[in-house]
Amino acid sequence: LHHAKAAGRDTHRFYAEAMNAEAVAHLSTRSGLRRALERGEFLIHYQPQISLETGAVTGAEALLRWNHPDKGMVPPGDFIPIAEDSGLIVPIGAWVLTEACRQAAQWHTQGLSLSVAVNLSALQLQRGDLVATVTRALAESGLDPLLLELELTESMLIQNTDVVMDNLRRIKAMGVQVSIDDFGTGYSNLSYIGRLAVDKLKIDRGFVADLTRNHDSAKITAAVIQMAHSLNLTAVAEGVEDSETLEALRGLHCDVAQGYYLGRPGPAEAVERAARQVNPFRVGV
Ligand code: C2E
Ligand code: MG
Ligand code: MG
Ligand code: MG
Repeated sequence: LHHAKAAGRDTHRFYAEAMNAEAVAHLSTRSGLRRALERGEFLIHYQPQISLETGAVTGAEALLRWNHPDKGMVPPGDFIPIAEDSGLIVPIGAWVLTEACRQAAQWHTQGLSLSVAVNLSALQLQRGDLVATVTRALAESGLDPLLLELELTESMLIQNTDVVMDNLRRIKAMGVQVSIDDFGTGYSNLSYIGRLAVDKLKIDRGFVADLTRNHDSAKITAAVIQMAHSLNLTAVAEGVEDSETLEALRGLHCDVAQGYYLGRPGPAEAVERAARQVNPFRVGV
């Protein structure tokens, strides 16, 4: 008994220390994020999006990276939740919008008409200054609003407050495209799709990844593509990792695809190079 008690105490101490270490790491990330904006440690990687009809690159998703002075490249999953908790996602998100619009406008001056998709956080969508931030990013860059796309998730639409609805209505009125990211993993009430005039559904890579091996994933993917088309929406598949999946998606008449097989997120130049080719990934060849 004595022994067990001592072991229990040790376990307890172990957890307390681990929790403490996590809290410290959290705090240091938070102050690091604050400095990162000032010091220009953020950058954007772009992942190409390909038309399954023509094989051409039609746009790219902007994916935030933090080039930390000691830790190197930090993935968004490690810092975006902390940026959301602390509210820092608002200025960081504004930076992403500005930079992504600047890049897409530069592509346009280089003769490449590519759209850019930017991920939004719930907090950004809930704030009254979102429309002003988007307007400024477009005005400063001179980007055609039709070439900007904002990615939301289903869970962000559960809070259909007046501010959220008004933001979406005004963003749509500007001509900016709206897509639902990770579609199929969240909120199952689909009534918002028609009501909010969404443009695209991005099928979650959880379904796409095992499409050729898992019958349920194949059925769900087919159903989402059909639903998108009957509502006049574009169907985008995320997480395409091999040519078999790509061909299966073509067979299902999916419109756009994105994934490691078609290009990993990387510097803007990689997207440019692919976009200058007619059918760089030999889709359907
Ligand atoms: P997401 O928007 O669903 O982005 C797709 C994620 O899947 C990216 O991870 C991308 O690198 C990864 N991915 C793309 N193709 C494949 C594939 O074929 N296989 C696999 N296994 N993964 C693939 P990443 O860059 O780590 O971003 C993770 C998430 O972080 C994003 O998921 C998005 O929710 C969030 N995020 C990224 N940038 C921003 C941003 O600027 N603002 C906000 N609020 N969130 C962002
Ligand atoms: Mg996304
Ligand atoms: Mg996604
Ligand atoms: Mg995701």
